[in-house]
Amino acid sequence: MEVAGVTGKVALVTGGSRGIGLAIAMRLAEAGGRVTVCGRTAGPLPAELTFMACDVRDPAAVSATVRAIVEREGGLDFIVNNAGGSPQADAATASPRFSERIVQLNLLAPLHVSQAAYPYLRASHGAIVNIASVSAIRPSPGTAVYAAAKAGLLGLTRSLAHEWGPEIRVNALILGYIETATTDATYGDAAKQAAIGANIAAGRLGRAGEVADAVLFLLSPAASYVTGAALEVHGGGERPPFLDILKAQA
Ligand code: NDP
Repeated sequence: MEVAGVTGKVALVTGGSRGIGLAIAMRLAEAGGRVTVCGRTAGPLPAELTFMACDVRDPAAVSATVRAIVEREGGLDFIVNNAGGSPQADAATASPRFSERIVQLNLLAPLHVSQAAYPYLRASHGAIVNIASVSAIRPSPGTAVYAAAKAGLLGLTRSLAHEWGPEIRVNALILGYIETATTDATYGDAAKQAAIGANIAAGRLGRAGEVADAVLFLLSPAASYVTGAALEVHGGGERPPFLDILKAQA
């Protein structure tokens, strides 16, 4: 369904070739957007989307990609900094190179993409959505550097909203546990996912389409007074375990 203020707009969704990014890209395309997705490797994609190969950790490649989109589409309105993630790593032994790569992908890449897009978004009065994680706002043992990078992304969001407003709105999403093709690898088998879901207020993991709906809201004129904000899309979050410990002891 077309959405006023999104129809005809030009969007770049980083990491839009699969998972949450693909759902976001498709929702923007359904709303009438002209959507380019980027990733390191091309795969089969819906015809509505244009793919450009780009490693977002490479600032020169990012600049070239943004320029190519503007040359092809005549402008740029929306950026969704979605590419991200991290393998598990023990903070005591993670190599400097590993940690740098995690910060590059989850914090510096969103900055470089946003910087490259800045003059065009300023001209179009566009908007940016940065995809963060609950790891940014609670302890995240096993992915400490990822958590720190995502927390940095929330700080970046708040500051860029001021530096680049009022022309450009900059917001973030704080995602909980979202189902994708790799959910089993991340959150275990169906029984484990059900147990994780039972501890969440919404009673289940989130769906990529539900993230896409929140992105669409933040990019649309419905969010015209929303900037520098972090919207939590985590189904209400997790029940603190100490409550169950106390209950068990009572
Ligand atoms: P996936 O691993 O399923 O997809 C990641 C996407 O990013 C792919 O399209 C991948 O394509 C692309 N990508 C990865 N590295 C790069 C790179 N260096 N340059 C360009 N593109 C890259 O991730 P999810 O869909 O699970 O996660 C999407 C976002 O949501 C991430 O920022 C993640 O941190 C966040 N998030 C996800 C949660 C979840 O439960 N799934 C929970 C909380 C936050 P390619 O490999 O071809 O480059």
